[in-house]
Amino acid sequence: RAPRPAARPLRVLALANQKGGVGKTTTAINLGTALAAIGEEVLVIDLDPQGNASTGLGIDRARRRLSTYEVMAGEATLAQAVMPTAVPRLSIAPSTMDLLGLEMEMATAPDRAHRLRNVLKGISGAKGLETVSYVLIDCPPSLNLLTINALAAADAVLVPLQCEFFALEGLSQLLRTVEQVRGALNPRLTIQGVVLTMFDPRNNLSAQVVADVRGFMGDKVYETMIPRNVRISEAPSHGKPALLYDLKCAGSQAYLRLASEVIQREGRIPAAA
Ligand code: ADP
Ligand code: MG
Repeated sequence: RAPRPAARPLRVLALANQKGGVGKTTTAINLGTALAAIGEEVLVIDLDPQGNASTGLGIDRARRRLSTYEVMAGEATLAQAVMPTAVPRLSIAPSTMDLLGLEMEMATAPDRAHRLRNVLKGISGAKGLETVSYVLIDCPPSLNLLTINALAAADAVLVPLQCEFFALEGLSQLLRTVEQVRGALNPRLTIQGVVLTMFDPRNNLSAQVVADVRGFMGDKVYETMIPRNVRISEAPSHGKPALLYDLKCAGSQAYLRLASEVIQREGRIPAAA
């Protein structure tokens, strides 16, 4: 029998943007699926009380027994909360509305900003999670304590940015927060990249926003843009990533290209090469 391949180094990426509806969850699901498709072992951590990443990956509310709430509250281990999905090599730690109360409950705890980082410290020794090579954290649409936990635990931030008029305004605020977290909590935090989402080539405004964001962020912006694509918006109601729902659609193909850019930026050799 061939020896088991050595575990690949773990990378933790936070998908963050305090605006809602910009494509964080869609990117967590589909970038996660694309990374798994090219051989990475991926864990999505749903840190949004809305639980859209969990639903979109086919984990109905009724099946969520242990969630990221219990994990962050110290009542369960990460390994206990993690559930497999229909995608090989892709698992998820689901969330529930319970997360809404966590911020208040943690408010005075000295380790309140480091709960997730401490949870992830144990991942390489956790049963079933030893081979995880990418953790993607789906953040809530706010710069609250949950998002701060994600930024404190991450190696890098991946920012989904919708091609719309106010895109840059929100980006500056997010960058300031990243700067603050780097200074106070996590000196090694970097920006993996900015991904432009819901791009519509027929819309002049979209093109203008792309030019502005590229002017402001330079090569931090991925070459790959995610087009506005109806198949992408349909897939979650089937509890499937777009890549399983319609692999050939333009949106799925864009997420595959994004996955290869993401691993290239880290100087990694594709696992499935
Ligand atoms: P966020 O997590 O930032 O709030 P979502 O990923 O949930 O954003 O996306 C918001 C909405 O836009 C969802 O209904 C999603 O299906 C839809 N959507 C996201 N990306 C695309 C896209 N590329 N094309 C079409 N619809 C999209
Ligand atoms: Mg979301």
